Amino acid sequence: MNIETSNEEETKALASEILNSIKKSSDHATTIFLNGDLGAGKTTFAKGLAGALGVTEEITSPTFVIQKIYKLKADAPFKKLIHMDCYRLKTKEELFVLDIEEVLNNPDNLVLIEWPDKVREILAKPSEEIDFTFIDENTRKIAYAEKN
Ligand code: ADP
Ligand code: MG
Repeated sequence: MNIETSNEEETKALASEILNSIKKSSDHATTIFLNGDLGAGKTTFAKGLAGALGVTEEITSPTFVIQKIYKLKADAPFKKLIHMDCYRLKTKEELFVLDIEEVLNNPDNLVLIEWPDKVREILAKPSEEIDFTFIDENTRKIAYAEKN
């Protein structure tokens, strides 16, 4: 599926739509890989997804902390949203410091990973993978596999 969004709000709305189409895994975390250059819209997408899950805290980019964890409300389909940005990781092993295995093994977690290529070797196949491309100031191409 290839979609062009013409502003931030459309990218956030698409996040909500994609969230609804993803099947929750029962034996490990549900993961979404977000690919694309700086400014392509990955974090904007994460904000839309967090909003759709009822997160009211402000979502800021986890670039400097690598990982941010949001506890979700009781009626959400997951217990925690984990937003990761691997851009600054120097080695994939650094992820183990963050207890990545525990995070990925828990079916109650929804894990968003920006820059997954930095650590792909230690990750299983994602539940969904999305490619973001900058077209012009307000246009982004967003490509993903349709789940239903
Ligand atoms: P990334 O996480 O991929 O580096 P961000 O989501 O942090 O990217 O930044 C995307 C920037 O582009 C934001 O400043 C956002 O307002 C802007 N933008 C403009 N048009 C769009 C669009 N259609 N979708 C998403 N972001 C957009
Ligand atoms: Mg980002």
